[in-house]
Amino acid sequence: MTTATKEKILIIEDEKDLVRLIRHNLEKEKYHVTSARDAETGLKLARSSKPDLILLDIMLPKMDGLEFLKTMRSEVDVPILLLTAKRSEMDRILGLKLGADDYIVKPFSLGELQARIAGHLRRAGIQTGGSDKKSVSVGDINIDFERHEILVKGQVTYLAPKEFAILKLLIEANGKVLSREQLLQLIWGHDKDIEIDTRTVDQHIARLRRKLRSESERIRTVPNFGYQVAMK
Ligand code: CA
Repeated sequence: MTTATKEKILIIEDEKDLVRLIRHNLEKEKYHVTSARDAETGLKLARSSKPDLILLDIMLPKMDGLEFLKTMRSEVDVPILLLTAKRSEMDRILGLKLGADDYIVKPFSLGELQARIAGHLRRAGIQTGGSDKKSVSVGDINIDFERHEILVKGQVTYLAPKEFAILKLLIEANGKVLSREQLLQLIWGHDKDIEIDTRTVDQHIARLRRKLRSESERIRTVPNFGYQVAMK
């Protein structure tokens, strides 16, 4: 993987000093940082700048963080890390239910924050990068890693990020069977606080197959175990 430009991080937080501190710290690590002081601006930025990770404060002016989260989750599939106050346990639980990937309780150490960010980006990187190849073809499926799109018989098919990630992992496994647990771990990070189980993998595979249309049988089920891609 080339790491000339580091990932883009969007901070949505209304505490100016905290933003300045986080920004300074992340820029030292060569991340590209943008920030917004309210959720509306944050939403616009998230749509236009396509960040790789979002740090989201729950208590925000105007639209609150949780409302933002709901909207954002339906559109973008990047890791969202909540910044929460110690007392707001309900918000944290609700936040995870609404699709946040993780939370960190204020006050947190910058070292801890960086470690979490790096961890989430590493997992997300499985979905977006990790391969030096620009594209690969299997049967009538062509995956363009750079443009993040697939062609089935020359026709562009839109895949959600996690569907793309599953297909990419299976193709990179080159015919090897990946268990549902492996896929869960590699793509969702298997956080025990979040209620995701192997059925989630099956549901994504089902959607992926539908989108592969005539090539749907490329993805083979290995009963009671996992999945593989038929390479030939
Ligand atoms: Ca706040």
